[in-house]
Amino acid sequence: MKAAVLEEFGKPLVIKEVELPQLLDDEVTIEVKACGLCLTDIHIQEGRVPTVTLPLIPGHEFSGVVIAKGSKVSQVQIGWRVTVFVDVVCGDCRYCALGETSRCISMKRIGFERSGGMAEYVNIPAKNVQRISEEVSFEKAAVIPDAVASMYRGLKTMGQVGVGTELAIVGVGGLDGHFGFIGCQRLAGFAKVWCWLYLACRVGHHQPRVWCGHRDFWHCGQRMHCFVDCCAALIWYCSLFDRDLPRGIATPLGHGH
Ligand SMILES: [Zn+2]
Ligand SMILES: [Zn+2]
Repeated sequence: MKAAVLEEFGKPLVIKEVELPQLLDDEVTIEVKACGLCLTDIHIQEGRVPTVTLPLIPGHEFSGVVIAKGSKVSQVQIGWRVTVFVDVVCGDCRYCALGETSRCISMKRIGFERSGGMAEYVNIPAKNVQRISEEVSFEKAAVIPDAVASMYRGLKTMGQVGVGTELAIVGVGGLDGHFGFIGCQRLAGFAKVWCWLYLACRVGHHQPRVWCGHRDFWHCGQRMHCFVDCCAALIWYCSLFDRDLPRGIATPLGHGH
């Protein structure tokens, strides 16, 4: 099959013929129809994700059609249109038991520590598949588990967003800006939630610079119930904890760097 392979950090992906590994009993083969490019893929490509070993087929935001399944797979059918959960977790450790699967001690993420969707085909555990309806395009379905569900869960559980919440979303990528608004709409309706959207970027290596239209970012920040950080710049974080947040909630969602 054809795949985009990261062979060396800091270098472009190499499109080449590779062998699809043998399908395991609990896996399905997905014929990839759409695959997103996430900022995290850039971190991976530049060697900033220490758990990644090379060569790697990246791609953790993808969707496709199930074309084969292992002998122990009964819950997924061939021909299903599916999207894919990124984290392959053990289901047994104390974090999995608590539902905190993103902290699983033996997690292997698709497109990080195991092959991802930047290929014609990929084998993944059947438990990581989510069926999608005919009305949802492959392109939209591809980004739901990572970019949409991460933000939604962060807003709902950690952020405790509800009617009347004033919320600052820091960072204006797809995850934060776009899906943050959608999440707020689902949880409380646009009319009842103030969403403050800021663009933060780093200047040099150590100093964050923040724009907020003509307002002063920190002055506005005093009234927020919650900050959702999608930049994950350490210096920004340190500054955040100096703030006097009314409810003291800060939800980190970005990939740290
Ligand atoms: Zn991502
Ligand atoms: Zn686990």
